[in-house]
Amino acid sequence: MAALDSHNTAKTIAPAALAPAAAMARLGTETAFDVLAKAKAMEEAGRDIINLGIGQPDFHTPPHIVEAAVRALRDGHHGYTPANGALALREAVAEDIATHRCVTVRPDSVLVVPGGKVTMFFAILMFGEPGAEILYPNPGFPIYESVINFTGAKAVPIPLHEETGFSFSAEEVLSKIGPATRLIILNSPANPTGGVVPREEFDRLVEGLAAHPQVAILSDEIYSRMLYDGQAHVSLLEYPAIRDRLILLDGWSKTYAMTGWRMGYSVWPDSLIERATRLAINCHSCVNAAAQQAGIEALRGPQDAVETMVAAFDERREVVVEELNRIPGFRCAVPGGAFYAFPNITGTGYTARELQDKLLEEVGVATVAGTSFGAYGEGYLRFSYANSVANIREAMNRIRSCLT
Ligand code: PLP
Repeated sequence: MAALDSHNTAKTIAPAALAPAAAMARLGTETAFDVLAKAKAMEEAGRDIINLGIGQPDFHTPPHIVEAAVRALRDGHHGYTPANGALALREAVAEDIATHRCVTVRPDSVLVVPGGKVTMFFAILMFGEPGAEILYPNPGFPIYESVINFTGAKAVPIPLHEETGFSFSAEEVLSKIGPATRLIILNSPANPTGGVVPREEFDRLVEGLAAHPQVAILSDEIYSRMLYDGQAHVSLLEYPAIRDRLILLDGWSKTYAMTGWRMGYSVWPDSLIERATRLAINCHSCVNAAAQQAGIEALRGPQDAVETMVAAFDERREVVVEELNRIPGFRCAVPGGAFYAFPNITGTGYTARELQDKLLEEVGVATVAGTSFGAYGEGYLRFSYANSVANIREAMNRIRSCLT
Protein backbone atom coordinates (compact mmCIF):
# COMPACT_ATOMS: atom_id res chain seq x y z
CA MET A 1 0.00 0.00 0.00
CA ALA A 2 2.91 2.35 0.57
CA ALA A 3 3.66 2.39 -3.14
CA LEU A 4 2.16 5.27 -5.06
CA ASP A 5 -0.46 4.34 -7.60
CA SER A 6 0.34 5.10 -11.20
CA HIS A 7 -1.78 8.28 -11.26
CA ASN A 8 0.02 9.82 -8.32
CA THR A 9 3.64 9.10 -9.15
CA ALA A 10 5.82 12.03 -10.29
CA LYS A 11 5.94 11.53 -14.06
CA THR A 12 8.53 13.96 -15.33
CA ILE A 13 12.00 12.48 -15.66
CA ALA A 14 14.78 15.03 -15.15
CA PRO A 15 17.49 15.36 -17.81
CA ALA A 16 20.48 13.09 -17.09
CA ALA A 17 22.73 16.00 -16.01
CA LEU A 18 20.43 17.06 -13.18
CA ALA A 19 20.14 15.02 -10.04
CA PRO A 20 17.08 15.86 -7.93
CA ALA A 21 16.99 14.15 -4.54
CA ALA A 22 15.57 10.62 -4.63
CA ALA A 23 12.71 11.74 -2.40
CA MET A 24 11.37 13.88 -5.26
CA ALA A 25 10.43 10.72 -7.18
CA ARG A 26 8.27 9.68 -4.22
CA LEU A 27 6.26 12.88 -4.15
CA GLY A 28 2.69 12.40 -5.34
CA THR A 29 0.19 15.06 -6.37
CA GLU A 30 -3.40 16.21 -6.07
CA THR A 31 -5.13 15.04 -9.23
CA ALA A 32 -8.02 17.47 -8.71
CA PHE A 33 -5.65 20.18 -9.98
CA ASP A 34 -4.90 18.12 -13.14
CA VAL A 35 -8.63 17.67 -13.73
CA LEU A 36 -9.16 21.41 -13.21
CA ALA A 37 -6.41 22.24 -15.73
CA LYS A 38 -7.81 19.78 -18.29
CA ALA A 39 -11.37 21.06 -17.79
CA LYS A 40 -10.19 24.69 -18.20
CA ALA A 41 -8.27 23.81 -21.38
CA MET A 42 -11.36 22.09 -22.80
CA GLU A 43 -13.46 25.16 -21.90
CA GLU A 44 -10.99 27.44 -23.65
CA ALA A 45 -11.25 25.20 -26.70
CA GLY A 46 -15.01 25.88 -26.72
CA ARG A 47 -16.39 22.87 -24.81
CA ASP A 48 -19.21 23.37 -22.32
CA ILE A 49 -17.84 21.93 -19.06
CA ILE A 50 -19.57 21.50 -15.71
CA ASN A 51 -16.90 21.31 -13.04
CA LEU A 52 -17.77 19.05 -10.14
CA GLY A 53 -14.09 18.22 -9.71
CA ILE A 54 -12.41 20.93 -7.69
CA GLY A 55 -12.97 21.20 -3.95
CA GLN A 56 -13.58 24.87 -3.42
CA PRO A 57 -16.68 26.90 -2.57
CA ASP A 58 -18.23 28.54 -5.65
CA PHE A 59 -18.91 31.69 -3.60
CA HIS A 60 -16.89 34.86 -3.38
CA THR A 61 -15.21 35.79 -0.12
CA PRO A 62 -17.74 37.90 1.85
CA PRO A 63 -17.25 41.63 1.02
CA HIS A 64 -16.51 42.76 4.59
CA ILE A 65 -13.50 40.41 4.61
CA VAL A 66 -12.27 41.70 1.25
CA GLU A 67 -12.67 45.28 2.53
CA ALA A 68 -10.55 44.46 5.59
CA ALA A 69 -7.70 43.34 3.31
CA VAL A 70 -7.99 46.46 1.14
CA ARG A 71 -7.99 48.63 4.25
CA ALA A 72 -4.96 46.79 5.61
CA LEU A 73 -3.02 47.47 2.43
CA ARG A 74 -4.01 51.16 2.56
CA ASP A 75 -3.07 51.32 6.25
CA GLY A 76 0.43 50.08 5.54
CA HIS A 77 0.34 46.39 6.48
CA HIS A 78 3.16 45.76 4.02
CA GLY A 79 5.94 44.22 6.05
CA TYR A 80 6.76 40.92 7.71
CA THR A 81 4.66 39.91 10.69
CA PRO A 82 5.90 37.61 13.46
CA ALA A 83 6.56 34.18 11.88
CA ASN A 84 3.77 32.55 13.89
CA GLY A 85 1.26 35.23 12.83
CA ALA A 86 0.10 38.64 14.08
CA LEU A 87 -0.85 38.45 17.77
CA ALA A 88 -4.32 39.93 17.12
CA LEU A 89 -5.00 37.16 14.61
CA ARG A 90 -3.81 34.41 16.92
CA GLU A 91 -6.02 35.89 19.64
CA ALA A 92 -8.96 35.85 17.23
CA VAL A 93 -8.22 32.19 16.43
CA ALA A 94 -8.16 31.33 20.14
CA GLU A 95 -11.52 33.12 20.61
CA ASP A 96 -12.98 31.29 17.62
CA ILE A 97 -11.85 27.94 19.04
CA ALA A 98 -13.47 28.86 22.37
CA THR A 99 -16.72 29.71 20.54
CA HIS A 100 -16.93 26.76 18.18
CA ARG A 101 -15.07 24.04 20.05
CA CYS A 102 -15.61 25.21 23.65
CA VAL A 103 -11.92 24.68 24.37
CA THR A 104 -9.35 27.15 25.71
CA VAL A 105 -6.11 27.46 23.75
CA ARG A 106 -3.41 30.06 24.26
CA PRO A 107 -2.63 32.36 21.32
CA ASP A 108 1.00 31.27 21.58
CA SER A 109 -0.02 27.67 20.72
CA VAL A 110 -1.40 28.93 17.40
CA LEU A 111 0.64 29.03 14.20
CA VAL A 112 -0.79 30.93 11.23
CA VAL A 113 0.26 29.30 7.95
CA PRO A 114 -0.34 29.87 4.23
CA GLY A 115 -3.24 27.40 3.84
CA GLY A 116 -4.36 24.22 5.57
CA LYS A 117 -1.93 22.13 3.53
CA VAL A 118 1.09 23.69 5.23
CA THR A 119 0.07 22.29 8.61
CA MET A 120 -0.05 18.74 7.22
CA PHE A 121 3.27 19.25 5.44
CA PHE A 122 4.94 20.46 8.65
CA ALA A 123 3.40 17.77 10.86
CA ILE A 124 4.39 14.97 8.49
CA LEU A 125 7.92 16.41 8.02
CA MET A 126 8.25 16.61 11.79
CA PHE A 127 7.50 12.92 12.34
CA GLY A 128 8.30 11.22 9.04
CA GLU A 129 11.61 9.56 8.29
CA PRO A 130 12.78 6.13 7.12
CA GLY A 131 11.82 3.54 9.71
CA ALA A 132 8.83 5.54 10.97
CA GLU A 133 5.20 4.66 10.24
CA ILE A 134 2.38 7.13 9.80
CA LEU A 135 -1.30 6.12 9.69
CA TYR A 136 -3.55 8.06 7.32
CA PRO A 137 -7.13 7.75 6.02
CA ASN A 138 -7.61 5.99 2.67
CA PRO A 139 -9.48 7.17 0.67
CA GLY A 140 -8.28 10.50 2.01
CA PHE A 141 -6.77 13.83 1.04
CA PRO A 142 -3.98 12.71 -1.34
CA ILE A 143 -1.31 14.97 0.12
CA TYR A 144 -1.15 12.89 3.32
CA GLU A 145 0.12 9.79 1.51
CA SER A 146 2.27 11.84 -0.87
CA VAL A 147 4.20 13.67 1.87
CA ILE A 148 4.52 10.56 4.06
CA ASN A 149 6.18 8.79 1.12
CA PHE A 150 8.33 11.86 0.46
CA THR A 151 9.79 11.70 3.99
CA GLY A 152 10.69 8.03 3.56
CA ALA A 153 8.29 6.94 6.30
CA LYS A 154 5.92 4.02 5.69
CA ALA A 155 2.38 5.15 4.84
CA VAL A 156 -0.05 2.82 6.66
CA PRO A 157 -3.62 3.21 5.39
CA ILE A 158 -6.66 3.41 7.64
CA PRO A 159 -9.30 1.99 5.28
CA LEU A 160 -12.57 3.90 5.27
CA HIS A 161 -15.63 1.88 4.34
CA GLU A 162 -18.90 2.85 2.69
CA GLU A 163 -20.82 0.57 5.10
CA THR A 164 -19.84 2.74 8.07
CA GLY A 165 -20.50 6.05 6.31
CA PHE A 166 -16.74 6.32 5.62
CA SER A 167 -16.03 6.76 9.31
CA PHE A 168 -13.22 4.65 10.77
CA SER A 169 -13.29 1.87 13.29
CA ALA A 170 -11.30 2.87 16.41
CA GLU A 171 -10.44 -0.79 16.93
CA GLU A 172 -9.01 -1.06 13.42
CA VAL A 173 -6.95 2.13 13.85
CA LEU A 174 -5.58 0.96 17.20
CA SER A 175 -4.71 -2.45 15.72
CA LYS A 176 -2.43 -0.77 13.19
CA ILE A 177 -0.31 1.00 15.79
CA GLY A 178 3.09 -0.60 16.22
CA PRO A 179 6.43 0.37 17.77
CA ALA A 180 7.35 2.44 14.68
CA THR A 181 4.09 4.45 14.62
CA ARG A 182 4.81 8.14 15.13
CA LEU A 183 1.74 9.95 13.86
CA ILE A 184 -1.93 9.25 13.10
CA ILE A 185 -3.75 11.52 10.67
CA LEU A 186 -7.53 11.87 11.04
CA ASN A 187 -9.98 13.98 9.04
CA SER A 188 -13.61 14.61 10.00
CA PRO A 189 -15.68 15.83 8.18
CA ALA A 190 -13.73 14.20 5.39
CA ASN A 191 -12.52 14.78 1.90
CA PRO A 192 -13.28 12.97 -0.46
CA THR A 193 -16.14 11.07 1.17
CA GLY A 194 -18.09 13.67 3.19
CA GLY A 195 -17.89 11.13 6.03
CA VAL A 196 -18.20 12.24 9.65
CA VAL A 197 -16.73 10.28 12.57
CA PRO A 198 -19.24 9.84 15.44
CA ARG A 199 -18.24 10.99 18.92
CA GLU A 200 -18.37 7.43 20.33
CA GLU A 201 -15.73 6.32 17.82
CA PHE A 202 -13.43 9.19 18.83
CA ASP A 203 -14.07 8.34 22.51
CA ARG A 204 -12.98 4.74 21.88
CA LEU A 205 -9.93 5.83 19.93
CA VAL A 206 -8.76 8.31 22.56
CA GLU A 207 -9.24 5.69 25.26
CA GLY A 208 -7.12 3.21 23.31
CA LEU A 209 -4.43 5.80 22.60
CA ALA A 210 -3.64 5.92 26.32
CA ALA A 211 -1.62 2.73 25.71
CA HIS A 212 0.45 4.48 22.99
CA PRO A 213 1.69 7.73 24.54
CA GLN A 214 4.46 8.10 21.93
CA VAL A 215 1.99 8.56 19.05
CA ALA A 216 1.11 12.09 17.91
CA ILE A 217 -2.22 12.91 16.24
CA LEU A 218 -2.91 15.34 13.41
CA SER A 219 -6.62 16.20 13.30
CA ASP A 220 -7.55 17.81 9.99
CA GLU A 221 -10.72 19.75 10.79
CA ILE A 222 -10.76 22.07 7.77
CA TYR A 223 -14.47 21.23 7.17
CA SER A 224 -15.45 21.75 10.83
CA ARG A 225 -18.16 24.30 9.98
CA MET A 226 -19.66 22.22 7.14
CA LEU A 227 -21.95 19.76 8.86
CA TYR A 228 -25.58 18.92 8.13
CA ASP A 229 -28.68 17.42 9.74
CA GLY A 230 -28.08 19.35 12.96
CA GLN A 231 -24.83 17.55 13.77
CA ALA A 232 -22.34 19.32 16.04
CA HIS A 233 -18.65 19.18 15.17
CA VAL A 234 -16.54 16.90 17.37
CA SER A 235 -13.03 18.29 17.69
CA LEU A 236 -10.17 16.19 18.98
CA LEU A 237 -9.11 19.31 20.91
CA GLU A 238 -11.98 18.47 23.27
CA TYR A 239 -10.04 15.50 24.68
CA PRO A 240 -7.67 16.63 27.47
CA ALA A 241 -6.01 13.17 27.51
CA ILE A 242 -4.35 13.80 24.12
CA ARG A 243 -3.88 17.59 24.23
CA ASP A 244 -0.12 17.21 24.75
CA ARG A 245 0.21 15.35 21.43
CA LEU A 246 -2.54 16.77 19.27
CA ILE A 247 -1.96 19.00 16.25
CA LEU A 248 -5.13 20.72 15.02
CA LEU A 249 -5.44 21.76 11.37
CA ASP A 250 -8.04 24.32 10.32
CA GLY A 251 -8.16 27.50 8.27
CA TRP A 252 -10.14 30.01 6.29
CA SER A 253 -10.19 28.34 2.84
CA LYS A 254 -13.46 26.44 3.02
CA THR A 255 -15.37 28.21 5.81
CA TYR A 256 -15.00 31.70 4.33
CA ALA A 257 -14.55 30.82 0.64
CA MET A 258 -10.92 31.96 0.82
CA THR A 259 -9.05 29.16 -0.98
CA GLY A 260 -6.96 31.62 -3.02
CA TRP A 261 -5.95 33.74 -0.05
CA ARG A 262 -3.80 30.95 1.38
CA MET A 263 -4.74 31.28 5.02
CA GLY A 264 -4.65 28.43 7.50
CA TYR A 265 -3.86 27.87 11.15
CA SER A 266 -2.75 25.11 13.43
CA VAL A 267 -2.70 24.55 17.17
CA TRP A 268 0.39 22.71 18.43
CA PRO A 269 1.24 21.11 21.75
CA ASP A 270 3.75 23.07 23.88
CA SER A 271 6.52 20.59 23.07
CA LEU A 272 6.20 21.16 19.29
CA ILE A 273 5.14 24.78 18.71
CA GLU A 274 8.70 26.14 18.57
CA ARG A 275 9.76 23.48 16.08
CA ALA A 276 6.70 24.22 13.95
CA THR A 277 7.49 27.95 14.04
CA ARG A 278 11.05 27.16 12.99
CA LEU A 279 9.71 25.28 9.97
CA ALA A 280 7.64 28.38 9.13
CA ILE A 281 10.71 30.63 9.37
CA ASN A 282 12.65 28.28 7.09
CA CYS A 283 9.77 27.96 4.64
CA HIS A 284 7.76 31.15 4.21
CA SER A 285 8.79 33.65 6.97
CA CYS A 286 5.19 34.64 7.63
CA VAL A 287 1.79 34.76 5.97
CA ASN A 288 0.79 37.74 3.79
CA ALA A 289 0.27 40.64 6.22
CA ALA A 290 -2.90 42.08 4.67
CA ALA A 291 -4.47 38.62 4.37
CA GLN A 292 -3.91 38.17 8.10
CA GLN A 293 -5.93 41.34 8.80
CA ALA A 294 -8.71 39.93 6.62
CA GLY A 295 -8.48 36.74 8.66
CA ILE A 296 -9.25 38.70 11.84
CA GLU A 297 -12.32 40.24 10.21
CA ALA A 298 -13.46 36.80 9.01
CA LEU A 299 -13.36 35.36 12.52
CA ARG A 300 -14.67 38.38 14.45
CA GLY A 301 -17.08 39.83 11.88
CA PRO A 302 -20.62 38.70 10.99
CA GLN A 303 -20.99 34.98 10.31
CA ASP A 304 -24.20 35.10 8.27
CA ALA A 305 -22.34 34.52 4.98
CA VAL A 306 -21.02 31.22 6.38
CA GLU A 307 -24.52 30.17 7.36
CA THR A 308 -25.91 31.09 3.94
CA MET A 309 -23.17 29.13 2.19
CA VAL A 310 -23.65 26.02 4.34
CA ALA A 311 -27.44 26.19 3.78
CA ALA A 312 -26.81 26.29 0.02
CA PHE A 313 -24.48 23.27 0.25
CA ASP A 314 -27.09 21.43 2.25
CA GLU A 315 -29.74 22.01 -0.44
CA ARG A 316 -27.34 20.87 -3.16
CA ARG A 317 -26.36 17.83 -1.12
CA GLU A 318 -29.94 16.58 -1.21
CA VAL A 319 -30.17 17.17 -4.95
CA VAL A 320 -26.84 15.53 -5.74
CA VAL A 321 -27.50 12.42 -3.66
CA GLU A 322 -30.98 11.95 -5.09
CA GLU A 323 -29.75 12.43 -8.65
CA LEU A 324 -26.70 10.20 -8.23
CA ASN A 325 -28.88 7.38 -6.96
CA ARG A 326 -30.94 7.61 -10.17
CA ILE A 327 -27.93 6.93 -12.38
CA PRO A 328 -27.69 3.28 -13.47
CA GLY A 329 -24.78 1.57 -11.73
CA PHE A 330 -24.37 4.30 -9.08
CA ARG A 331 -25.10 4.00 -5.36
CA CYS A 332 -24.57 7.02 -3.14
CA ALA A 333 -24.67 7.22 0.66
CA VAL A 334 -25.73 10.52 2.21
CA PRO A 335 -22.61 12.49 3.20
CA GLY A 336 -22.82 14.14 6.63
CA GLY A 337 -20.32 16.94 6.04
CA ALA A 338 -17.97 18.89 3.73
CA PHE A 339 -19.26 19.40 0.14
CA TYR A 340 -18.48 16.08 -1.50
CA ALA A 341 -20.52 13.06 -2.54
CA PHE A 342 -18.64 9.81 -3.09
CA PRO A 343 -20.87 7.36 -4.94
CA ASN A 344 -20.01 3.72 -5.50
CA ILE A 345 -19.79 3.29 -9.29
CA THR A 346 -18.87 -0.40 -9.53
CA GLY A 347 -22.27 -1.16 -11.06
CA THR A 348 -21.25 0.76 -14.20
CA GLY A 349 -18.51 -1.75 -15.04
CA TYR A 350 -15.93 1.03 -15.37
CA THR A 351 -12.95 1.67 -13.13
CA ALA A 352 -12.93 5.00 -11.33
CA ARG A 353 -10.29 6.45 -13.65
CA GLU A 354 -12.02 5.19 -16.79
CA LEU A 355 -15.30 6.76 -15.72
CA GLN A 356 -13.64 10.06 -14.69
CA ASP A 357 -12.07 10.33 -18.17
CA LYS A 358 -15.19 9.17 -20.02
CA LEU A 359 -17.46 11.70 -18.28
CA LEU A 360 -15.09 14.59 -18.91
CA GLU A 361 -14.33 13.72 -22.52
CA GLU A 362 -17.77 12.55 -23.67
CA VAL A 363 -20.20 14.79 -21.77
CA GLY A 364 -18.01 17.55 -20.28
CA VAL A 365 -18.57 16.71 -16.60
CA ALA A 366 -15.45 17.00 -14.42
CA THR A 367 -15.26 14.65 -11.43
CA VAL A 368 -12.29 13.04 -9.65
CA ALA A 369 -11.60 9.28 -9.61
CA GLY A 370 -11.68 7.75 -6.13
CA THR A 371 -8.21 6.29 -6.75
CA SER A 372 -6.81 9.83 -6.71
CA PHE A 373 -7.45 9.61 -2.96
CA GLY A 374 -5.75 6.25 -2.44
CA ALA A 375 -6.12 2.65 -3.49
CA TYR A 376 -9.22 2.17 -1.31
CA GLY A 377 -10.97 4.74 -3.50
CA GLU A 378 -11.28 2.30 -6.41
CA GLY A 379 -14.93 1.89 -7.35
CA TYR A 380 -15.86 5.45 -6.38
CA LEU A 381 -15.98 8.92 -7.95
CA ARG A 382 -15.80 12.19 -6.05
CA PHE A 383 -18.36 14.85 -6.88
CA SER A 384 -17.84 18.30 -5.40
CA TYR A 385 -21.27 19.88 -5.11
CA ALA A 386 -19.83 23.38 -4.82
CA ASN A 387 -21.81 24.28 -7.93
CA SER A 388 -25.34 25.55 -8.65
CA VAL A 389 -28.38 23.26 -8.40
CA ALA A 390 -29.07 23.91 -12.11
CA ASN A 391 -25.54 22.83 -13.06
CA ILE A 392 -25.72 19.79 -10.81
CA ARG A 393 -29.01 18.68 -12.42
CA GLU A 394 -27.63 19.28 -15.91
CA ALA A 395 -24.46 17.30 -15.06
CA MET A 396 -26.54 14.39 -13.80
CA ASN A 397 -28.69 14.39 -16.95
CA ARG A 398 -25.54 14.29 -19.04
CA ILE A 399 -24.10 11.40 -17.00
CA ARG A 400 -27.36 9.44 -17.28
CA SER A 401 -27.43 9.93 -21.05
CA CYS A 402 -23.78 8.88 -21.26
CA LEU A 403 -24.37 5.64 -19.35
CA THR A 404 -27.70 4.51 -20.79
N1 PLP B 1 -7.40 19.26 4.30
C1 PLP B 1 -8.38 18.76 3.55
C2 PLP B 1 -9.10 17.55 4.01
C3 PLP B 1 -8.73 19.37 2.34
O1 PLP B 1 -9.71 18.86 1.59
C4 PLP B 1 -8.00 20.51 1.91
C5 PLP B 1 -8.29 21.16 0.63
O2 PLP B 1 -8.98 20.66 -0.23
C6 PLP B 1 -6.98 20.98 2.73
C7 PLP B 1 -6.72 20.34 3.91
C8 PLP B 1 -6.12 22.12 2.31
O3 PLP B 1 -6.71 23.35 2.42
P1 PLP B 1 -5.97 24.66 1.93
O4 PLP B 1 -6.52 25.00 0.58
O5 PLP B 1 -6.30 25.68 2.97
O6 PLP B 1 -4.50 24.39 1.88
